[in-house]
Amino acid sequence: MLSQLKGHCFFVGGFFFSFFLVFPVLCSPLELSILFLFNFIFDVSIDRVGLSSGFRCRCYVKLQTPSRAAGVDPDPLRGRAWSLLLHVSATFEAGVSRNPAARNELKRTESAAKVRSSRAMAPKQRGKKRSVEADTDTDEPSGPRKGANKFIGAHVSVAGGVWKAVEASVAMGARSFALFLGSQRSWRRPALDGAAADKFRAACRTHGFHPDHIVPHGSYLMNCGSPKEDVFEKSRAMLVDELSRCCALGLHQFNFHPGAATGSSPADCVERIAQAINHAHQQTPAVVTVLENMSGQGSTVGGRFSELRAIIDRVRDQARVGVCLDTCHAFAAGYDLSAAGGVEATLKEFDREVGLRYLRAVHLNDSKGKLGCHLDRHEDIGRGEIGLDAFRDIVNDPRLDNIPLILETPGRPGFEYPEQIKLLYSLCEK
Ligand SMILES: [Zn+2]
Ligand SMILES: [Zn+2]
Repeated sequence: MLSQLKGHCFFVGGFFFSFFLVFPVLCSPLELSILFLFNFIFDVSIDRVGLSSGFRCRCYVKLQTPSRAAGVDPDPLRGRAWSLLLHVSATFEAGVSRNPAARNELKRTESAAKVRSSRAMAPKQRGKKRSVEADTDTDEPSGPRKGANKFIGAHVSVAGGVWKAVEASVAMGARSFALFLGSQRSWRRPALDGAAADKFRAACRTHGFHPDHIVPHGSYLMNCGSPKEDVFEKSRAMLVDELSRCCALGLHQFNFHPGAATGSSPADCVERIAQAINHAHQQTPAVVTVLENMSGQGSTVGGRFSELRAIIDRVRDQARVGVCLDTCHAFAAGYDLSAAGGVEATLKEFDREVGLRYLRAVHLNDSKGKLGCHLDRHEDIGRGEIGLDAFRDIVNDPRLDNIPLILETPGRPGFEYPEQIKLLYSLCEK
């Protein structure tokens, strides 16, 4: 009852906020009339299907969030587009909301939009704002939402177009995702299609995926640590190309395997990787290069956290370097996540060697291989040598809040990405 009343007040407040404060600033009188008409049809139709005021309130939260972000957007045209797009999308979602799965999806989208809004509005008070929102979330009529600060997703396919990655993530209940930005087989790749990039950016906005929760993964062909001049040159050029693609897609970070020494010394390899990163930073604006820890297979570097640190030490713009921690790779490299307190010990060591401030993402993979085996063999969550308890600790660790937690597991019938994501959220205690 109380929450219904609260929802209703919010709805009325939202209405006045949108139509008398936000839209007149952002829209022309004609656009405002169209919006008003839209709103009327929208309200009548949601009354017809008998949705609660709580639901309406959520639609309005979603509607206003980008409007507020648009208020701080220096480009007024984009601000208007935001408002219109959001209104249309809220209307559409009201249409699909009779389906329970779609309702859940809306809740997730809204929560991501809240995080985005808190970032846009008050970056310095992010922590404070978040906890207030989490409190608000817990007295929703549908019960507390667990794992609100955890952004779990998977590495998804871009077959059919780069925006398909967004659609696939929505369908599997993900709140973050990883993707490849080009073919894994070829050094020469066709240029990114501008229309496809626009479609990708629009899909991310519509479904509430913030760029910080999207981590493109580098091509496996790339070896920025290669002692062979031609391979090094090609890898360096590919790194520049990948970062440019990130820019075109509106993404902030790019994750890749540091490289392999292939006959040279690890120290030389580290030096070349840093050179390639420095070169790519010079050639591109503002994308963070995110190094992944490795299993230590063959001559790859980055198995030990100290090797990642050695690369970071040689990068000139350290604001543009980060680390993605792969649980399978860490375990295979000898960090015992499966032991009681293993997650805590590993994160402590990571903090000591690298610094948690560099941690931009986690790859959530169980391991087929045993501790210290140096084999890069991923297993489904809880079905490998690391075990479910470690993943429970991971999804309940506040140090891993608000960063993408990405699955790269093989999957098996009945236990594919959607089920593994669901399992991981069910392990969240708050
Ligand atoms: Zn990887
Ligand atoms: Zn791997």
